[in-house]
Amino acid sequence: MYPSRFRYEAPRSLDEAIGLMHDGGDYVKVLAGGQSLVPLMKLRFASPELVVDINNVPGLNYHRADPDGTLRIGALCRHADLERSDLLKTTQPTMAAAAPLIADPIVRNRGTLVGSLCHADPQGDWASVVLALGGSVVARGPRGTRTIPLADFVTGPFQNVLDPDEIVVEAVIPAAKGMRSGGYLKLERRVGDFATVGVAVAVETSGGNVTTAGIALTGVGGSTIAATAAAEALTGRPLTSDTIGQAAELAAQAARPRTDHRGSAEYKRHMVRTFVLRILSRTAAAPDQAAERAA
Ligand SMILES: Cc1cc2nc3c(=O)[nH]c(=O)nc-3n(C[C@H](O)[C@H](O)[C@H](O)COP(=O)(O)OP(=O)(O)OC[C@H]3O[C@@H](n4cnc5c(N)ncnc54)[C@H](O)[C@@H]3O)c2cc1C
Repeated sequence: MYPSRFRYEAPRSLDEAIGLMHDGGDYVKVLAGGQSLVPLMKLRFASPELVVDINNVPGLNYHRADPDGTLRIGALCRHADLERSDLLKTTQPTMAAAAPLIADPIVRNRGTLVGSLCHADPQGDWASVVLALGGSVVARGPRGTRTIPLADFVTGPFQNVLDPDEIVVEAVIPAAKGMRSGGYLKLERRVGDFATVGVAVAVETSGGNVTTAGIALTGVGGSTIAATAAAEALTGRPLTSDTIGQAAELAAQAARPRTDHRGSAEYKRHMVRTFVLRILSRTAAAPDQAAERAA
C-alpha cells in the first residue's frame, strides 16, 4: 500500500527541525531511520500530515563516553554503529549483547536506538536494555531541553510523553559506580525477528555485593516491563544460587505475557525465568568477562 499524502521536510539544523515540528500542524512525525515509521505509513496505521526527516541535521550521529563514564547516544546513531562499537564491547555488556540481536543487518544499518525508544514498541529490544541500565532520554523543543528517565518516558504501547513539537536528541546511560556486568537474551522464532521474550539484566558489584541492579523484559506485556522487585532482591547481596533463583522467580512474576501464535503465556514466563537465571549465573561465574570497572 502507499502512504497517505504528506508534506516532507528535511531541515539542516536542530532549531529548524524544532521550528517545523512546532508550526507543522496537528500530526507531525520525526523520521530517523524510518524502519518503523515508514512501514506504519505504508500500512496507513500512521498518516502524518508532515514528516520531518532529521537525517540532514549535523551532530546527531555519535555515541561516546563522558570522562566520568556516562554514555551518550545521539539520535542518528544507528543500530549497526552500536553493534560494531568497541566502546560498548569494553564498557557496556548489556548493550553489546543486545545490539546484534536487533532485526537484521539491513534494518540495523538505518534504524536508530533513539528511534526505537521513541517508537515504544513492547517488542523493542533497546527499551528493555536502557531501562535495565537506568537510562534516560534528552528531549528538545521550543520550550527548552528536558531529561526524561526511560521509566517515565514510555506510557504504553507505542506511546511516550513527548510533546508533539519535541525531538529526542540523545539517550543517556549513567556511569557505573561499581563493576558492571550483565547481558541480553532474546527468544525469536527466526533470526532477525522481533522478540517472543527478551530479558535485559544489568548489575553493578562492589566488594562482592550487588550495588545496583536492573532487570527489564521485552515482549511479555503491553509495554516494556521493569522487573523492579527482582532487581531489588539482588541489591546489597552477593550473586549466589539463592539470590539468583529469587530474582528469576520475581522477574517471571512481573511478566504479563499473553498466549498467542508465538507461544503460551506459561512458556513465555518460563523463558523469562530461564533467561534471568542464565544471565546472572554467567555473571556470577565469570564477572570479568562481561564487566566494566568504573572510571
Ligand atoms: C523487518 C524489521 C524487523 C525489526 N526487528 C526488530 C527487532 O528485532 N527488535 C527491535 O527492537 N526492533 C526491530 N525493528 C524496528 C527497528 O529497530 C527500528 O529501527 C526502530 O524501532 C525505530 O528506529 P528508527 O530510527 O527506524 O525510527 P523511525 O522509524 O524513523 O521512527 C519511529 C518512531 O519514533 C519517532 N522518532 C524517531 N526518532 C525520533 C526522535 N529523535 N525524536 C522524536 N521522535 C522520534 C518517529 O516519529 C516514529 O514515531 C524491526 C524493523 C523492521 C522493519
